Amino acid sequence: MFDRTAIGKAHSSFRDRHIGPDDAGRRHMLDVLGYSSLDDLIDAAVPEQIRCPGGLQLPAARSEQQVLGALRALADRNQSRIQMIGLGYHDTITPPVLRRNMLESPAWYTAYTPYQPEISQGRLEALLTFQTVIEDLTALPVAGASLLDEATAVMEAVLLMRRANKTAKSNRVVLDADCLPQTVAVVRGRAEAVGIEVVLADLTDALPDGDAFGVVFQAPGASGVVRNLAPLIAAARDRGMFTAVAADLLSLTLLTAPGEQGADIAVGSAQRFGVPLFFGGPHAGYMAVRSGLERMLPGRLVGVSVDVDGKPAYRLALQTREQHIRRDKATSNICTAQALLANVAAMYAAYHGPEGLRAIASAVHGHAAALADGLRAAGREIVHEHFFDTVLVRVPGAAAQIVAAADDAGINLRHVDADHVAIACDECTTDDVIRQVLDVFGATPVAPAGAGALPLDVLRTSEYLQHPVFHDHQSETAMLRFLRELSDKDLALDRTMIPLGSCTMKLNAAAEMEPISWPGFAGIHPYAPARQTAGYLELIGNLEDWLAEITGYDRVSLQPNAGSQGELAGLLAINAYHRSRGDADRDICLIPQSAHGTNAASAVLAGMRVVVVGTAANGNIDHDDLQAKLAEHAGRVAAMMLTYPSTHGVYEADVRTVCELVHNAGGQVYVDGANLNALVGLAKPGEFGGDVSHLNLHKTFCIPHGGGGPGVGPVAVRAHLAPFLPGDPLAVEGPGPVSAANYGSAGILPITWAYLALMGPEGLTAATKNAVLAANYLAASLTDRYPVLYKGETGLVAHECILDLREITKRTGVTAEDVAKRLIDYGFHAPTLSFPVNGTLMVEPTESEDLTELDRFITAMVGIHDEISRVGSGEWTLEQSPLRQAPHTAEQVTDAEWTLPYSRQYAAYPVATLRRNKYWPPVRRIDGAHGDRNLACSCPAPEAFQIESADILEEALV
Ligand SMILES: *Cc1c(COP(=O)(O)O)cnc(C)c1O
Repeated sequence: MFDRTAIGKAHSSFRDRHIGPDDAGRRHMLDVLGYSSLDDLIDAAVPEQIRCPGGLQLPAARSEQQVLGALRALADRNQSRIQMIGLGYHDTITPPVLRRNMLESPAWYTAYTPYQPEISQGRLEALLTFQTVIEDLTALPVAGASLLDEATAVMEAVLLMRRANKTAKSNRVVLDADCLPQTVAVVRGRAEAVGIEVVLADLTDALPDGDAFGVVFQAPGASGVVRNLAPLIAAARDRGMFTAVAADLLSLTLLTAPGEQGADIAVGSAQRFGVPLFFGGPHAGYMAVRSGLERMLPGRLVGVSVDVDGKPAYRLALQTREQHIRRDKATSNICTAQALLANVAAMYAAYHGPEGLRAIASAVHGHAAALADGLRAAGREIVHEHFFDTVLVRVPGAAAQIVAAADDAGINLRHVDADHVAIACDECTTDDVIRQVLDVFGATPVAPAGAGALPLDVLRTSEYLQHPVFHDHQSETAMLRFLRELSDKDLALDRTMIPLGSCTMKLNAAAEMEPISWPGFAGIHPYAPARQTAGYLELIGNLEDWLAEITGYDRVSLQPNAGSQGELAGLLAINAYHRSRGDADRDICLIPQSAHGTNAASAVLAGMRVVVVGTAANGNIDHDDLQAKLAEHAGRVAAMMLTYPSTHGVYEADVRTVCELVHNAGGQVYVDGANLNALVGLAKPGEFGGDVSHLNLHKTFCIPHGGGGPGVGPVAVRAHLAPFLPGDPLAVEGPGPVSAANYGSAGILPITWAYLALMGPEGLTAATKNAVLAANYLAASLTDRYPVLYKGETGLVAHECILDLREITKRTGVTAEDVAKRLIDYGFHAPTLSFPVNGTLMVEPTESEDLTELDRFITAMVGIHDEISRVGSGEWTLEQSPLRQAPHTAEQVTDAEWTLPYSRQYAAYPVATLRRNKYWPPVRRIDGAHGDRNLACSCPAPEAFQIESADILEEALV
């Protein structure tokens, strides 16, 4: 029947679509928990002492149409230009087949970091392809699966050189004066914190005098110059120095590779391989190393191993280097990196192939050469004879005027100094663009002269990208199907809940995602003048204000491009604060045992010493131990890092006391806010005792995980720390930056802006409450079978819970890992395995999963418990149980031979609903140790996958 009262009312608000459970679902969960209302549950779960009475002062919720309209208006206020500023950021064409089917595809962007390799073979293969691209182009044998950006990648190279160069006594590193300015700024700031002396030197002719453990070259230089670095690299090696080259990836298709020139390390950015400018990020940084250094590589590394059948399978290699295992001894604090962007770059290379890339690079160089020819013909002086894409023009006293005239013509050029302008060509440069630029100089195109401006002694002669993956997918049909084939191998949020504790795998709504590829956001150069970026600056200003309100702090910086970088920025601010007060002796960072590994690794990178604070029996911070440590290190404590709610998934009621103890000892309190999904609208770390926090926008605030990045890790501080927030990488003075771009991964900030605008203050608070409800519902439903390890004083958990399997393991041998792998057969991504406590699973459902999905998970966990009982009773041996055999592949259950004591049907369809919708893992359980012993980090030869067709024929005849 027609309902007149419905006119003009939204059928359903965004909030009701973001939050999974409906009223009936909520009612059911509350009944199970024995609470009459959601607010009663929250009052019982969240300690009175931390509650914020005022709620959130944020704009009211808007509809999806309103929010998209507002974002459209912001994008329109960013002025598009032909971007020829360069400096490590170049316009590029994202092939639409990649944009639509990878960058904008939830099958790719909602995936988690591939720690569960059996359900991640597709994205692991894509990342391995990325590594192969980097290895081939740099001519170095081992490349990692992405770093955060070029400037931080250079810093990682500096740290690697210092770790690896055991003979150098010096603490100095030489930095090419022609390094990108943002690289110099990041390295300077971060090197100071760890006592490395940076010497900026003109490396045109020779190395500077004196010792150093390493040298960093930029190729081509920021000035555009292309030099033959081989003699200097050899000279550095003779003097006991390690060498790193920050190399432009596209130029390496035409120029001799760093590995061929003798460098130990190559770093850089893969941005111009199909990833939009995004106002500075997210982009994939890269690093490749010569053999012998692979075990010191920072960040994640994909390797080839085998499954239990001996078939090739991919997984993350050498994980023992990483912060979650090695903590303060880790090679780096990088956790979330740039997986999605690395995958785009890999597929860009696969789509174009070596000939295509060479053609793009040749066109780029050809345009730059044509520009130089035209300028010279008009009497302009070109500073460097040899260049790849960037032409440096001497224009005595006229730089500002020329840059302004170009701006009027719709082109951004780089104002180098009063007398120089630089012009960077890229994949989007056309003959017409060159004509327009020449016109700005009063010049006109001339007939091409000579063979370009690349020096003959550095022309590349070696082959690259010979693997079939770079030749087999060059029609759009082939690429489309390749992307589909890869993503079909994986479990992402588009298929199942991903109940990963500490990771907050919630909905990434389509309306939040759409704006990021609009040209008004995607096409903006990070160093474009502020008047061209008014829309971005307003969006960023809003977001800083809103996040300050949500956290109870005074100021927010959005620059850090991952949680780990937010931690580092916060700790550097604490350092600077103490020093500004003449309190220079404070260098100790107290960190609870249960903390995330990044905390300890970040503290080390901030130049601090880590002192561990113990955990009491109830999982909380041990106050006695804290007091003992504060007394023992009186006058030396710089900070305590605590996670709230704790990584045990519990609201510690006495957090205010902990903060007071630290403050009374003269220390600052760092509240790790990655778990803010349990706090938004209910409590504010800035109000209950924190001085600084980082947040993970890729957890609580809906930026998707991308299979291991991108992320944004804003750092929020109270007023006294505000002067020490990360500075602009292009500023001459002030605090050092922690990212190459002032606003870090600005291109994905519209996602969080949209989420906050769509939800409004009540919606955000409701999301938190529903997340707590769902976690408690799971905890209560499972605790009889899997004891919940830690609970708060009222018997409730926060937004996640730890299921303790250690007793089960002791009794039956079945491990938490077995359960994680068997969940794959049930169609689930595993919870967090063995963090923060070994032998446990940490489950975080988030507010976005509805009751049906939560119950499906409970059914799976109950079914698995029955299986454990059958092992316990001796009905199945552990080895011959579906738990240890998991996951089961289609190939295995349809094999001619089947000797296991349970049926094929039970192996694959342990619950009936799977018969309608079944995920088949492409490989059986993977042997990680085998891969670490036989390290292989590039695409395997196709023969590795050859299937003996004779075998199949034989089976057919059985
Ligand atoms: C995820 C997480 C981090 C690290 O964040 P990244 O973005 O991966 O660097 C730090 N602390 C906690 C508690 C986390 O859950």
